[in-house]
Amino acid sequence: MQDVDLLVVGAGPAGLSAAIYARRALLDVHLLEREAAGGQMLLTPRVDNYPGFAKVAGYELADYMQGQARDLGARIATGDVETIDRLANGDFLCRLSDDNAIRSKAVIAAMGARARQAGFEGEAQFVGRGVSYCSTCDGMFYRNKHVFVIGGGDSAAVEALHLAGIASGVTMLVRKDHLAASKNHVQDLMAEPRITVSYGKVLRAVGGTERVTRLVLADVATGRTENLDFDENGCGVFVAVGRDPATESLARLDVLGTDGYVITDERMATSVPGLYAAGDVRSKSLRQIVTACSDGAIAAESAIDYLRSSR
Ligand code: NDP
Repeated sequence: MQDVDLLVVGAGPAGLSAAIYARRALLDVHLLEREAAGGQMLLTPRVDNYPGFAKVAGYELADYMQGQARDLGARIATGDVETIDRLANGDFLCRLSDDNAIRSKAVIAAMGARARQAGFEGEAQFVGRGVSYCSTCDGMFYRNKHVFVIGGGDSAAVEALHLAGIASGVTMLVRKDHLAASKNHVQDLMAEPRITVSYGKVLRAVGGTERVTRLVLADVATGRTENLDFDENGCGVFVAVGRDPATESLARLDVLGTDGYVITDERMATSVPGLYAAGDVRSKSLRQIVTACSDGAIAAESAIDYLRSSR
């Protein structure tokens, strides 16, 4: 069992900012990350709305933030937190999937959100063989193939624009009759000749043997279905239909709203003393890197005050 003052769960922009602020107050900070530090920034080909960086690759920004946190003395370790409980003395007990545990006086939950499944037949079966949730990770496997992007929001727009530089053509399948993406993304999509937007269409199923070679599309208005067939090289389906919060570990603490996001006040405090949340796990209106950083800074300051007052 490891004992720390402040445990930050998740090393995306929220968690890394929290660690930076907490270290500047010389707090004993331990940061746990399930995969690689950077969170969703690692999946973003280009960030152009983080002030001070007109155009920066997501992984580069992640690298800068992680370097800054480490240089200030934050410990970043790999670990998957399965449950977080509050002990009778007010400390938190975090159990990890590898059977280790960490006891902490305060916790900042910054686990972010993960890609939602679209729900078509064959989706899970063909992951890595035609179905993907990340064009930055898998786009290169679809060089000169046709790809489909499911969704009409900003994520889908970003995926489509990135894939347009790799694939032979991109078709966005949007179930409504309009895009939900922001105006600048819509403009970019319309200006890209390799992208076609197909409205009122949903993907019902994918099929094939080695990889996806068949798509079954349905027209939302009529219910009529059509098959699209490809040769044995297949095609790609990139799913970008939103995200769900990674808050399973908090299920026993009664801090989640009905949609699974963590409810906090403006100081990032949950209803449980000593437990704070920051970034995309929070119930809030705008989920961006800059708002995640802001949350992280505020959560750290609140945790610092809490730890000082409970000493
Ligand atoms: P959104 O919720 O904004 O959009 C989801 C899209 O997927 C909608 O078009 C939705 O359609 C569609 N959809 C949902 N379920 C299905 C399904 N089963 N089959 C087909 N289509 C489906 O999610 P995003 O991930 O795009 O964005 C989340 C937040 O992150 C937003 O606030 C966004 O602005 C922000 N963001 C900003 C970026 C930026 O560069 N500024 C980049 C990426 C995200 P419907 O409308 O019919 O529900």
